Amino acid sequence: MTNWPVLPDAATLGAMQLDDSQVDLGALSLSSGAGAVLNLELPSPAFTLGGFDHRCREEHLSVRVVASRTVGDGWAFRIKFHAHVLGPCTRCLGDGGVEVSVETREATRPGGGEDLESPYLKDDVLDVESWMRDSLLLATPTAILCDPSCKGLCPDCGERLADLPEDHAHERPLDPRWDALRRLSD
Ligand SMILES: [Zn+2]
Ligand SMILES: [Zn+2]
Repeated sequence: MTNWPVLPDAATLGAMQLDDSQVDLGALSLSSGAGAVLNLELPSPAFTLGGFDHRCREEHLSVRVVASRTVGDGWAFRIKFHAHVLGPCTRCLGDGGVEVSVETREATRPGGGEDLESPYLKDDVLDVESWMRDSLLLATPTAILCDPSCKGLCPDCGERLADLPEDHAHERPLDPRWDALRRLSD
């Protein structure tokens, strides 16, 4: 893999960033076969997985974008970043977290049909945030735990077993009819 120059300097990069996460690659004026490495600090994305809200512990993520110009006005991209994703523990619904590393690539060639057109590139503007959100969603495991030894919830009262004493137990049977009887005898 060619080692592309780390471009551009911070001032030029500021001009290229149309907003927080849209980068105008046309401003790099790269010729076919040339490429550049962009190190960006972008707001970390939030997303929904399995019906639950997930977010990153970091407010901003350091993202490395490698963009290179391919033949026929095409582009090849790679992004690489790391995040600590926070979401509910799948066993007890307590606060869980997992380290996620993302490294993914996209290629695009104008007029190459749907398969060759990246959904994240429009008029040479790369939507890094959407790409980050989608790839983070794909890379995050559906099973996040609060602790590897999480024992989940008590099947009788639904409390987190980690919050309960070791000898936590219920008188059985825990049946509403017994409750009614107990009320009568009180
Ligand atoms: Zn848990
Ligand atoms: Zn219980």
